[in-house]
Amino acid sequence: MTRLFNDPAVFADEMIEGFAAAAAAWVQPVPGGVVRSTRAATPSVAVVIGGGSGHYPAFGGLVGSGLAHGAAMGNLFASPSAQQVHSVAKAADQGRGILLAYGNYAGDVLNFDEAEARLTAEGHDVRTVVVTDDIWSAPSERRHQRRGIAGDLAVFKIAGAAAEAGYDLDEVERVATLANERTRSFGVAFSGCTLPGASAPLFTVPQGKMAVGLGIHGEPGIDEIPVPTADELAAMFVARLLEETPEGAGTRVVPLLNGLGGVKYEELFVVYRAVNRLLAERGLHVLEPEVGELCTSFDMAGCSLTLLWPDVELERLWTAPADAPAYRKGIAPQHERVIVPTHAADPDAIPVGSPESQRTAAIVGAALDAMAEAIDAAADELGRLDSVAGDGDHGIGMRRGVNAGRDAARAAIAAGAGAGTALTRCADAWSARAGGTSGAIWAAMLRELGGSLGDDTAPTRTDVAAGCSRARDAVMAFGKARVGDKTMVDAIVPFAETLNAAVADGRPLADAWSHAARAAQTAADRTADLAASLGRARSHGERSIGTPDPGAISFALLTRTVHTVLAEPQEEQ
Ligand code: ADP
Ligand code: MG
Repeated sequence: MTRLFNDPAVFADEMIEGFAAAAAAWVQPVPGGVVRSTRAATPSVAVVIGGGSGHYPAFGGLVGSGLAHGAAMGNLFASPSAQQVHSVAKAADQGRGILLAYGNYAGDVLNFDEAEARLTAEGHDVRTVVVTDDIWSAPSERRHQRRGIAGDLAVFKIAGAAAEAGYDLDEVERVATLANERTRSFGVAFSGCTLPGASAPLFTVPQGKMAVGLGIHGEPGIDEIPVPTADELAAMFVARLLEETPEGAGTRVVPLLNGLGGVKYEELFVVYRAVNRLLAERGLHVLEPEVGELCTSFDMAGCSLTLLWPDVELERLWTAPADAPAYRKGIAPQHERVIVPTHAADPDAIPVGSPESQRTAAIVGAALDAMAEAIDAAADELGRLDSVAGDGDHGIGMRRGVNAGRDAARAAIAAGAGAGTALTRCADAWSARAGGTSGAIWAAMLRELGGSLGDDTAPTRTDVAAGCSRARDAVMAFGKARVGDKTMVDAIVPFAETLNAAVADGRPLADAWSHAARAAQTAADRTADLAASLGRARSHGERSIGTPDPGAISFALLTRTVHTVLAEPQEEQ
């Protein structure tokens, strides 16, 4: 239960504002997150971490001397957008290269990859290390597909210490990669978390049961068993993690016993007592452990054990001093306080479109108004669909995205924008506010459509159909999903095909669009028969059978909604 909030829609913004004020000795806010408010005398590689909010101390609490240089902070449980990551990385950069490090989630990968591509195109040397420590999220043969949970801290700490020690970018990347290869985690939960303003938890665990293998976004666990004693849980953690002892591991091990939000420190210490003993019994030497809240999941009652098996170099980096708002070790050097100049989020003026394109932009504005209303009404149901195998945020993400997109498009239209600019502005605002996978996908689609329609002429129905095909291609190139993977691509492809065929048959746009929207709805409904193989839901693919894909359902809903606007008699098509 989250009790203290104002407007749930701006909870993350208000949280970041308060955090930055409270932690001003370490961090300063920049568009998209925070960067250090101090700077060492000699420049270093910039370690930029990030992810959704709701996991404090991850990610903002880990920005400081000996740790990260910046954190991109997305909305609650939603990855930061590519713009946010880009903005934070630019502010953190010191000219020696940038390491992006974050947990392996589909939305984060899409957005960080796009930010990396932009930074690289601007001439920065950028590398990425994704954290994949959660042993329950994929079998060991597919370790690269695993999610990142509390093992994030081990990788961030080692990367941050290496940067602080003056390592170059190749070397920081090397030790961060090795740290990830040497880190394994196992998590359990006793009850789900409830986001601000939500009436129910994202998932529930029956009374007296414990969910094994939960994700930190409330992705349901793999199995449910009776709640064990503290000693039994410790034995389960240690036995299972030691089965996964990484190649090259020695006899020294760093345990991180992490509370997810609703478990007391005292309970953790009782569990840790047994963990410590069991590791010693197995001949392992425990090195500088951590017991506490390292990566939380809002108010979820649960905990995880992470083991890091360091070599001599990783041990030196793990034990090096650090000084961040939520993590301190030893005596870290005090650096000079600085104010990082930040670029304005949206500096460019709106180009004025031709009168024809302005008329098309008015239809775009009306369509976005209708879309925002439709998502508002459907948000709870979309969240419910996403909670079956995903993380339950599809409704809130879509609501944030479409509202911000509509407002940005409306502002552009009021300033005389044509349809292309209205859609491009809409796309940028949508992904910045929505975050997550669907935010990035919708932005890619709208941006491409905007580019196709342009600001000069009134598009013909053939132009609109061709623009929708290009939007489909952009989504597939960006997200790499194919038909049958159980994503919104399953609805987008038949939509674009039917629209093009109906337009080629000579049907008026509204009529062709109506056919295409029906095809999208049928295809979206049929995704219920499929198991998810991509996206956040992939670790629970089987569980998703019987429930349609939330992104496909919202896509179909929005195309039906746009049809109601296109069918209005006053619009000449
Ligand atoms: P997140 O997965 O980050 O929580 P959302 O819950 O808002 O984001 O969106 C989930 C939807 O995103 C899925 O239902 C699916 O339709 C869509 N999706 C996931 N991965 C992809 C992909 N690679 N390509 C296209 N759509 C995708
Ligand atoms: Mg989701």
